[in-house]
Amino acid sequence: MGYTSKNPYTNEVLATFPSATDDEVKTALADAHAAFLAWRETGFSQRAAVMRKASAILREEVEPFARLLTLEMGKLFAEAKAEVELSAQIFDYYAEHAEALLAPEKLPVSDPRSGDAMLVHQPLGVLLAIEPWNFPYYQIARIIAPQLSAGNTVLLKHASNVPQSAAAFDVLMKRAGLPDGAFRNLYATRGQVELILNDPRVHGVALTGSEGAGAVVAAQAGRALKKATMELGGADAFVVLEDADLEKTVKWAVFGRHWNGGQVCVSSKRMIVVDAVYDRFLELYTAGVAALRAGDPFAAETTLAPLSSAGAVEELRGNIAKAVAHGATATEVGPRVPETGAFLQPTILTGLAGDNPARYWEFFGPVSMIFRAKDEEDAIRIANDTPYGLGGSVFTADTRRGVEVAKRIDTGMVFVNHPTMVKADLPFGGIARSGFGRELIGLGIKEFVNHKLIDVV
Ligand code: NAP
Repeated sequence: MGYTSKNPYTNEVLATFPSATDDEVKTALADAHAAFLAWRETGFSQRAAVMRKASAILREEVEPFARLLTLEMGKLFAEAKAEVELSAQIFDYYAEHAEALLAPEKLPVSDPRSGDAMLVHQPLGVLLAIEPWNFPYYQIARIIAPQLSAGNTVLLKHASNVPQSAAAFDVLMKRAGLPDGAFRNLYATRGQVELILNDPRVHGVALTGSEGAGAVVAAQAGRALKKATMELGGADAFVVLEDADLEKTVKWAVFGRHWNGGQVCVSSKRMIVVDAVYDRFLELYTAGVAALRAGDPFAAETTLAPLSSAGAVEELRGNIAKAVAHGATATEVGPRVPETGAFLQPTILTGLAGDNPARYWEFFGPVSMIFRAKDEEDAIRIANDTPYGLGGSVFTADTRRGVEVAKRIDTGMVFVNHPTMVKADLPFGGIARSGFGRELIGLGIKEFVNHKLIDVV
């Protein structure tokens, strides 16, 4: 199938790369395993030095790294630079904390005469990371920084439309001093993914992507009896209560739905607004979305990026049409988006009745679903009426009330007075159809280690 780097703003093909051969995959597996045998014997300080060097290079070369993201998947240049910085922060986090996070734990034992029982956290071996295109660097950083710090080694199968970003990180880690084979980008085919998972030297897979991909790869991992983490889709609720500061809330709503072109697993995809402020919210929100400017993602005045591909635009148009066929109202908002480039006219969907299947879908682009809730209780009911369970947010002047509502939203992350956000020192992950496992902080680094009991009797 091959990997193609194509600028979604100009439609120019930037580069193509052939898929990996089976021999390349076999060599990468052997090298990753050999690298593991040596890497696991290194100390945390040696691993931390590599992480720090990677973060320093990213910061020194933020512009060229960011440029590649904007060229390859259309992200606004300012957002691309922020992604480079976030990736650097993740490397720094594990340079600083990995040793303490994986320190042996003495277990309290009921019989003091029975000696010392302790848990040690040891690396497992080679891991496979399968990543999506929407944050090409951050997605790599959030798996390799913890796992290399833990002593594992990683093979990467990145999305087929961001091969240059994948290659840039391969080079980055070599320049940071990581031993050859400990991290390798492979332009692997789907068939080769299964080959890798079935190899006894491979001990787990971390996939970020769609539900469809998650279901296939989790089944393959299950058959091979390999540990898996799945970071999948989401349709985050953005709950607005009647006491919220509406102007601030609307600013966050417009941002939460449209940053990264609306292509974020934790985008605020479902605005759920209580009746008392629904009409005013809709009016302000529509004006806020209409003020977005689609255009060249390198231009400072552009506030709405193109989507990652023309195919993504077509898919969204099809799903909007289906939502309308089932009774929803679609309102296109703002000045006409450019005709060249993968742009979708920002669209607001209202009147999504209980029997409209579209209310359960993930719209991966500038499409806002807005729901009218009777009151707080009804807003929580609508928030939980979804197959997903990734993030969510609650807007209210009363933060204690916000926390109580947050506790009742069935997802992995809920923010009070902020759209779901991503930070180097916060965990990330979901439940239900949004997958399983957690990335980042101590939870992430402990996903792929052997929590070994040593009991001295
Ligand atoms: P995708 O089509 O599932 O692709 C993600 C990755 O999986 C790509 O590397 C893709 O490779 C690979 N893949 C797809 N099907 C596969 C299969 N059968 N076997 C092996 N690998 C397979 O997802 P996407 O469209 O790029 O990304 C958007 C989705 O990801 C959305 O649902 C979004 O919510 C979700 N996402 C979730 C998170 C999170 O942390 N929870 C973060 C970001 C995005 P190819 O490119 O070669 O197909």
